[in-house]
Amino acid sequence: MIPYGKQDISSDDVDEVIKVLNSDFITQGPQVPKFEKSVSEITSSKYSIAMNSATSALHCACLALGLGNGDWLWTSPITFVASSNCAMYCGAKVDFVDIQSNTYNICPDALERKLIAAEKKNLLPKVVVVVHLCGQPADLEKIHALSKKYCFKIIEDASHAIGAKYKDLPVGNSKYSDITVFSFHPVKIITTAEGGMAVTNKKELFEKMSLLRTHGITKDLTSMKENSDGPWYYEQIDLGFNYRMTDIQAALGSSQLSRLGDFIKKRHLIANEYNKAFADLPITLPWQDPNSYSSFHLYVIRINKDFYNHKKVFIDLRERGIGINLHYIPVYRHPFYTKFGFDKNDFPESEAYYAEAISLPIYSKLSSADQAFVIKNLKESLSLNLK
Ligand SMILES: *Cc1c(COP(=O)(O)O)cnc(C)c1O
Repeated sequence: MIPYGKQDISSDDVDEVIKVLNSDFITQGPQVPKFEKSVSEITSSKYSIAMNSATSALHCACLALGLGNGDWLWTSPITFVASSNCAMYCGAKVDFVDIQSNTYNICPDALERKLIAAEKKNLLPKVVVVVHLCGQPADLEKIHALSKKYCFKIIEDASHAIGAKYKDLPVGNSKYSDITVFSFHPVKIITTAEGGMAVTNKKELFEKMSLLRTHGITKDLTSMKENSDGPWYYEQIDLGFNYRMTDIQAALGSSQLSRLGDFIKKRHLIANEYNKAFADLPITLPWQDPNSYSSFHLYVIRINKDFYNHKKVFIDLRERGIGINLHYIPVYRHPFYTKFGFDKNDFPESEAYYAEAISLPIYSKLSSADQAFVIKNLKESLSLNLK
C-alpha cells in the first residue's frame, strides 16, 4: 500500500539517535533545549517548549491562556479532533466555525458573523484555534483584527505547517497569535516519532507552559512560594503533567529540522506533478493563496460529486493499493461531539468538502514511479466511477 504520508529517516538521523542512546542523558539532557532553540530560530519565535505531542502542547496552551470551566473555544470543524479536545480537557465548551470554500481553513467572514451573534448573547469565545489545513496558513491578519475587537486569544494549530510562510513570515512567529503549536508525528513534515512544540513570544505564557509540562514543579528560587529547605528542595506550585519530550526524540527532531527546506521543496514538486496530471479533469486542485507558502503536508483534491461517486472512487483506490485518506471527518459528526447538539446544516462548506475530499499520497520519499501509479489509477478509477 502506498500511504498518504510517511516519515523520511536518513542515516544521519539514525546516527544522532544512537549518539544520545550512548550518552549520559536519554531524557532531560542537552538535546531538548537544543531542538527548542533551533525551532525558535526557524520560526522567528522567542520561546519554544518541546512536548511529547501536539495534543499535549494544545492542552498546555489552552491552560496557559486561562481557558477553564464554562469558557468557549471555537475552531474549524475540518481538523483533527485534538484541535477541539484540548478545550474539553480544560472543562471548556466547543463550537465550530465553517470553512472557506477555497482554502478549507476557518472562514474569517463566518467567524465575524458568529462573533456578532455571540456578543449579543454574551457567549464570546475565550480562545479560537486556527488550523492551517494541509500546511496552508489561514487568513491570520483578519482573524487577528477580530481578536482585538472581540477580545479572544488565538492558538495556531500548525501541526501541518512547520516551514510554511504567511505574508513572508514563517509560521510560528506568532505576529498574529498568542501561541503556535507544531506536531512531529511521523506523517507530518518532520518527525520525532511522537512529539510536539509550543512556540510563543510571551514570557508569561512560556513560563506557564514550561511549568505545566513538568508536573507544575519549579526548581527556580525566584518562582518559589517558600524559602528553600536545602539543596534538594523544589516546589510544586501548580497542577501540571508529564508532557516532556525525550532527548532521543529531540535529537531526531534536530536532525530532521536540518532537512526541512528539502522536505518542503520535494512536497511542492510532487504537488506540481499532480497539478499538471489532473489539470483537465473536473476535480478541484488545492488552491494556493498568493499571500502564503504552504508546507504541503496534505494534497487534497475535491472530486465533483455531480460527476463522480466519491465513496466508490475511495474504495476502489484503496483496493488498488493506494492509501488515500479523508482529512477530515467534520469534528461535530463524531459521536462524542454529536451529543452537544450540533446541526450539520450550520456548516454547509464543511459538509460539501466532506462529500468530495480525497488526500492523495504526498511525502518526501514518494518515488516518481509510485506517483505515476497513483495518477494512472486515479484517472482510471474516476472514469469507472461516474455518477
Ligand atoms: C496531527 C495533528 C494533531 C495532533 O498531533 P499529535 O502530535 O499527534 O498529538 C493536532 N492537530 C492537527 C491539525 C493534526 O493534524
